[in-house]
Amino acid sequence: MTKAESRKNAATLRQRQIRSKAIRPPSDGSSPRFVADVMLGRLAKWLRIAGFDVLYSNRFADDELVALSASEDRILLSRDTRLLVRRVVKRFIFLESEQIQAQIRQVFEVTGTHTLPGVLTRCLSCNDVLLETPRERVRERVPPFVFATQVQFKTCPRCSRIYWAGTHRQSVVRILGKLLSS
Ligand SMILES: [Zn+2]
Repeated sequence: MTKAESRKNAATLRQRQIRSKAIRPPSDGSSPRFVADVMLGRLAKWLRIAGFDVLYSNRFADDELVALSASEDRILLSRDTRLLVRRVVKRFIFLESEQIQAQIRQVFEVTGTHTLPGVLTRCLSCNDVLLETPRERVRERVPPFVFATQVQFKTCPRCSRIYWAGTHRQSVVRILGKLLSS
């Protein structure tokens, strides 16, 4: 066997090992929570748009990911089989595709997600839950057109970013809706 072949065999074996670990949704009916590895920033963002609690940082080291998954009972999202075969990793999803929509669909399928937990309820950069904010309080901080046409505003308690519905939201919700588990 060549070196390349044995590397490929080892990778296939790891994939088989990790596919056998199953995810069960939380028994109390709450939404599953996640921690995403450094390669999955886009997926983390989309899951946050859907309303999921997803920890993500492009500075997380492998050991931190594993520790966060264990201590906070978060499902580890990764495409790295070397990380996922570690015995301490109990709950994870091995993302098989590089394509974002296929990744979202896989997460929804594995976790049995039939409805979105809360579209645009979390800050896309911080993961914090957004707070309803009186319209008057954002007047000076959003473009006049936005202020004139939107009635509802939310802000992030951590970074103070302001969110409103807008047309972008409808297309995002449509895409996410199509990917839900049937
Ligand atoms: Zn924020």
